[in-house]
Amino acid sequence: MANKITRKAVERFVKENLVPANDKQTVCADGRYNKEQSRGGTRAFGADFGIAMAIATTLKDDGTYLSPEEIVERYWRAKCQVVGTRVKINYHTDVHNHGLDNIGCGHITQATNPEYDGLYGSITYQEVLALYTSFSKHPEAELTVLEGNHEEKAILLVHGTSHSIHSKDKKGKMYFVADVDRTDRFIDRIASFFSVGLLDPVDAEKVKQNYHRQMQATAGLIAGGLDQFEVTIGADGSFSMNQLPKQKPAPQN
Ligand SMILES: [Zn+2]
Repeated sequence: MANKITRKAVERFVKENLVPANDKQTVCADGRYNKEQSRGGTRAFGADFGIAMAIATTLKDDGTYLSPEEIVERYWRAKCQVVGTRVKINYHTDVHNHGLDNIGCGHITQATNPEYDGLYGSITYQEVLALYTSFSKHPEAELTVLEGNHEEKAILLVHGTSHSIHSKDKKGKMYFVADVDRTDRFIDRIASFFSVGLLDPVDAEKVKQNYHRQMQATAGLIAGGLDQFEVTIGADGSFSMNQLPKQKPAPQN
């Protein structure tokens, strides 16, 4: 586990690694992305797959049956409409798992682990796996391969919609980065496009609840010992920071 990190060190890292928001790409919170890979994309646990998983969970909660293929296809179409142009749906693996059936994204690895069934809401680990299979086969799915090992020093929860933070600097210093407000806004927008033609539209608030529960589950499992900082960034790039109490692993409910 990483050494204790000082607030000053976190502040310096944020200052040096601010990046304007680029809403076309969705990027996992994984700290191993370099600048060229993340490019200011919206940082959400599991990248687009993580948001699709939260939608799938909400559909199940509401008793709406759609096949995994249809969920992924609808998600891709809806994302293109949110962004206003044809885009990819993003996910990632790492060099340790590339080319194997193993999954190199910690969020998906935990959600497909039978041991943690129930932590991710109503969706079962088998259903997550089936969704992953469909997602990875989609012609517009774009896989990013991350190098190196997890060495994140803390979790940065970003508020504001104008900027994000590069998760890794040139020296290899890294943080988990989650763009909280941008992810919420994206879910608000994608839920309505996703729902076109459905008898019961997907409720964005419920998707957000599922996403947050799933994010906390993974954060507890893979980063439970790390400090969390809320970083609120203004349109001019000025920011304030607030350290949160440490999270316990997500409770079963
Ligand atoms: Zn990931």
